[in-house]
Order: sequence, then structure tokens, then C-alpha cells
Amino acid sequence: MWAYLMDKITQLSGSHRYYRHFERKTPKNSFDPYKPFFRNIRQDRKNNQMGQDHSQPKVGKFPKLANATRPLGAHHSVAGGLINAVTLAKDYRSTALQIFTKNANQWLGKAISDTDATRFRLGVVEAELRFVVSHDSYLINLGSAKEDLFAKSVDAFVDELQRAELLDLFGVVTHPGAHLESTPEEALLRVVKGLNTAHKNTQGFKVKTLIETTAGQGTSLGWRAEQIGWILDRVDQPERVGVCLDTCHLFAAGYAMSPGEELESTIDLMAQGFGLKNIKLIHTNDSKKPLGSRVDRHAHIGQGCIGIESLRAFVMHPKLAHLPLILETPKEKNEAGEEMDDVNLRLIEGFQSHQL
Ligand SMILES: [Zn+2]
Ligand SMILES: [Zn+2]
Repeated sequence: MWAYLMDKITQLSGSHRYYRHFERKTPKNSFDPYKPFFRNIRQDRKNNQMGQDHSQPKVGKFPKLANATRPLGAHHSVAGGLINAVTLAKDYRSTALQIFTKNANQWLGKAISDTDATRFRLGVVEAELRFVVSHDSYLINLGSAKEDLFAKSVDAFVDELQRAELLDLFGVVTHPGAHLESTPEEALLRVVKGLNTAHKNTQGFKVKTLIETTAGQGTSLGWRAEQIGWILDRVDQPERVGVCLDTCHLFAAGYAMSPGEELESTIDLMAQGFGLKNIKLIHTNDSKKPLGSRVDRHAHIGQGCIGIESLRAFVMHPKLAHLPLILETPKEKNEAGEEMDDVNLRLIEGFQSHQL
């Protein structure tokens, strides 16, 4: 196995050099997001599967999405095996990826075998993915006042952390939960207790817990920046916790993003609420619902109520411009038959080459 791994690493460092070389030769800011992608990678892969061009290593052969410093990618399905999400990320020229490590509507998943874990970790290196996270199960509610549900949530969250650690992921994105019939203050206390227990049960883990800002639907916690700050201030191991922004959620929760005063005020509110240094990732989605609607519906980039100018201004804000970007928009094709993930990623890629 080690010989195989070493062999792969040698192979990779070679192709990586090739990629860097290629990148340097590409003129800066030459990317036009509205032009169709110069090569159909999916077709290319199909051709490969049909037995053509097997000798050529795929990695490093084409330039990645044009984000020299910040990782960019999408949430991809692991249907048929964890490695399939890596293949999809590679197809979309991504440098970042988010996955569910199991069915998101179940409490516990089948254990990940050592072979699958190794295959995944190796695949991530091979695909040159620099930032990979998972999203936890939607059933988990660390804010629950029902003792059995709270205990089940803590166990399930520990399971999520263990799976992510095994896959060598940067973090597990989690929604802080809902207060239901109790008060937000009581529920936030339980979230802190739940996180402390989960972190104590996974002592020494590298994987981070990334608390996601929410839209504030129903009794969801975490739609106010200060609620997340409140949690961060009270956890026993703050170094294990970070924040994941979601542009759709922030907007639906009432944080405006129009360039200028509105955006600056949102940045200030986040700085005061949970501290900008705690942000580790931005889920980049447009919103189908208006500012302050507190309804969570993701729209394609530029096709929602935030709009492309404000989205660009937000993710390219000097205080956020270093953060990884991960897309979570519906998986579908446009009228021209293009995958919307590809269209959305190209639009975000184009943010880099526009002066604000
Ligand atoms: Zn999100
Ligand atoms: Zn959402």
C-alpha cells in the first residue's frame, strides 16, 4: 500500500508542476464567464471511459477554476460511493468540495471501510482538492429540550466528526439547531453543552465544527450573528469551532449585501457578532426569497433576490476574499443543456476578474 501511495504522490507532484507551469502561461483576467467552457470535460471523461486516451494523466492537464488562492467548488453527491463526489469535483475543475458522509436524513450511517476512506483521501490529493468539508445530518438538533433527542443528536454528531476525521476533512458544517417550544437562550445553552460533550468524546481530533449561519426559519437558532458568537464564547475548546457563512441564509435573515453602506454594515455586524477571524468558509448561493424573509430557498447565482452584483461584492469583500467558496444550488440543467453547477461556478470564477 505504501509503495502505491508513494508512487501516486511522486506522480502527482510531477503533474502539479505541469499545472503550475500551465497556469503561469495563461494571461491574467482572460476568463469570460459568459463564454462556454472551452472544453467539455464530461464528454472528455466519457471518451476516456470508452477506452480512449487512457495513458494521459487527467490531473493537472487542464487548469482548475481560476481561483489562485481561494478554494472553489460545490456540494456533490456521494451516491454510489464517496469517491464519486471527488470525481464530480474534478470534472468541474474544483479545488473545494462539500459532501454528506452518509444519508443526511438518517441518524447513523454504515461505517466507512478503511479501503473506501483511503480511496477517498487519495482521490482528494489526486484531484488537487484543497478544502473538503462535510455537512451533518438534518436530523441533528443540539438545541432540543427532549432528553432522548438531545442524546441522540450528540451521538449522531460524534459519528459525523468521526467519519470526517477518518476522511481527513477540514470540518463538519452544522446548523446550530432549533429551540422549538423552549426559549432561544435555553436552547443555546444546550447547544454549548452538546458541542462540549461531542468534542470531549473526540479528544485530539483535527476536524473542525463549523457552525453555519441560518435563515431563521421557524425556531432555528443561528440567524442572528450574536447567537453564534454566544456559542463560540462559551465552548470549552474554541479552537475546534469556526463559522460557515451562507449568503442565502444571511440575506434571508436580514443581512443586506448591496455594495457600499449596506454591505459594510453587514460586515460590521458579523465582526461584532462572532468575529471575522472565526469564518472558515462561505456557502455561496443566491436566495429565492427576499431580504429578511427568514425563508431558506437557494437560487442559482444571479437568479435570486441577492443578485450578481451584491453576491460578488460580498464574497470579494477584502475581509472575506481569502475564504473558500462552496456552491449549494439545485442540481439541474439550463435550457441550453448545461449543468447549472458548471454555469454557477463559472460565474463565481468570473468574480475574480472584475474590479469592484
Ligand atoms: Zn449552506
Ligand atoms: Zn440553506
